[in-house]
Amino acid sequence: MQYTEALREILGGNAIFDPVEKIPYLTDASAFKGKEPIAVAVPETVDEIRRLLAFCDSNKIFVVPRGGGTSLTGASIPLDNFVVLSMAKFNRIISISPADRYATVEPGVRLDDLNEKLAEINFIYPPDPASSMAATVGGSISTNAGGLRASMYGTTKEWILGLEVVLPNGNVMTTGGRVLKRSAGYDLTALFIGAEGTLGVITKAFVKIWPKPEATGRILAYYDAIEKVGLAIKNVKSVGITPLIAEFLDRITMDSLRKAKGMSFPETASYMLILDVASTNISINVDLERTAKILRDLGPIDLSITRDPEEMARIYEARKGAYSSLLKVRKSSSQKVIIGDVVVLASELPAALKLVAAKAEELGIMVALFGHISDGNIHANIFADPDEKQSMEKEEEFQKYLGKVALEHGGSVSAEHGIGIEKKSLLLDQFDFTESRDALDIMRKIKHAIDPNGIMNRGKIFD
Ligand SMILES: Cc1cc2nc3c(=O)[nH]c(=O)nc-3n(C[C@H](O)[C@H](O)[C@H](O)COP(=O)(O)OP(=O)(O)OC[C@H]3O[C@@H](n4cnc5c(N)ncnc54)[C@H](O)[C@@H]3O)c2cc1C
Repeated sequence: MQYTEALREILGGNAIFDPVEKIPYLTDASAFKGKEPIAVAVPETVDEIRRLLAFCDSNKIFVVPRGGGTSLTGASIPLDNFVVLSMAKFNRIISISPADRYATVEPGVRLDDLNEKLAEINFIYPPDPASSMAATVGGSISTNAGGLRASMYGTTKEWILGLEVVLPNGNVMTTGGRVLKRSAGYDLTALFIGAEGTLGVITKAFVKIWPKPEATGRILAYYDAIEKVGLAIKNVKSVGITPLIAEFLDRITMDSLRKAKGMSFPETASYMLILDVASTNISINVDLERTAKILRDLGPIDLSITRDPEEMARIYEARKGAYSSLLKVRKSSSQKVIIGDVVVLASELPAALKLVAAKAEELGIMVALFGHISDGNIHANIFADPDEKQSMEKEEEFQKYLGKVALEHGGSVSAEHGIGIEKKSLLLDQFDFTESRDALDIMRKIKHAIDPNGIMNRGKIFD
């Protein structure tokens, strides 16, 4: 191969050239399939990354940084003429400072590993996508991941204080810092959050950490109509209660959990609502009862409250296991469950969900709905078969409609999964809808200023 010798010189043994060993890097958690990369680099030092990027920049080789490979939009797969840059060896938690409320971590650290370490001192790093066992700090920063606790703590962007980044020309830059306050010109840290590896490679992150809530409790409620679930959240939030977690699951999802995991649910329930309340030891019971009363006023089919950790974990398993259960009820092994991810104003969620469900029926496709209801995030899980043209056409039509519904209800075509390859045209729809083509133009100029040769993750976010 043309570049093998030079890449070996830069990376030593930290490079993969064997086609078979490259196979795991051709796909991520999306339905897209990548092209065989020139090499998979697995560097150990910032200097190796600097030299690699400078070499790729001079030779117009494209680079895709890779964390856990859990992207649902094709953001972490290589296309033509790519090197994959795996951050797997950047997996150290460098320091934790509870007094200053920050930790310094390398990007390849898995989110669950970081939170396991922080649990030892009763702290958390709040971003918790349902993929947290595999998703990394760097990948979740690069997609501005949300997750279940985003209801209370917001998405990743609220938790990043500063970054160390290797730019496409091989220079190393630090943005932001370690302090909680900073007013010092343009916020370059924000630029790299959600950039999907299109501007540079994150090699270190200063992340904000927070004390774990002293006491939590979980309410499980079942309703016969989505309006009631929507109203439950609206009414709870209106009286000043912010749920720690508020997740809903529809009947298709409940049925798949029953088949795949043997879980049971009330026969007449159409929707399941899981709502967590965070409080202090002294007031948790009062806060739980106050919240439950609001939910009871809407006439649930069933409602229970628990503070028992085992029972709480059992209920949580329904939400965490939702996607894998859907995969188990596919009609064939070639069928995929493609996760649509949009957000609407939380108060408009019931209306939006009704439209989405009606469209699935009109197209005759199976779509399971669940999501982070407190912040209006809908995950529409579409059963589609990439081997069948008609099935994929319907999937595309449905995704387009989902995006339209999101925009018409005050939201965004992507809530927390990013744009990748999948949503490039939906992003254009969003700029058109919000009459913001200037914003797209500015994004392109920023990309060109930082990456004039367009080597970083070319073909993702926009062309
Ligand atoms: C079952 C399942 C459930 C999920 N649930 C959620 C959820 O609840 N909430 C949510 O927000 N997301 C969810 N996701 C989506 C996904 O997990 C996130 O997008 C995740 O944040 C990506 O992290 P990763 O380490 O796997 O990154 P990757 O998939 O490897 O990469 C994602 C993007 O980040 C870039 N990147 C990675 N590392 C770096 C780096 N060091 N420097 C620069 N760029 C980098 C890549 O180039 C790519 O563009 C889910 C995914 C799955 C499969």
